Amino acid sequence: MPDAPLNCWLCGRPIATLMQWHHPVPKSKGGMETVPVHPICHQAIHNYFLNSELAKMGNDSAALLERTAMQNFIDWVKDKPPDFHAPTRKRR
Ligand SMILES: [Zn+2]
Repeated sequence: MPDAPLNCWLCGRPIATLMQWHHPVPKSKGGMETVPVHPICHQAIHNYFLNSELAKMGNDSAALLERTAMQNFIDWVKDKPPDFHAPTRKRR
């Protein structure tokens, strides 16, 4: 972990202990750069966008936020604590 506090590329909230690296341009599309994101934000990105769409939008997170589903997600997550992570396997 770097010393400087990191902010999430997607939602802009500070990142506490849970962090993942996201490729704005997917690795499969030749993307090299990574940005820090919350695990839950990372999940949302890949829920709402196809890799081909991500490749087109590239490093511009504002382009992702233009999508209504993404705005709704941000509105929902912005009041959550930095380490908040909804369980991904809630149904059995
Ligand atoms: Zn985030």
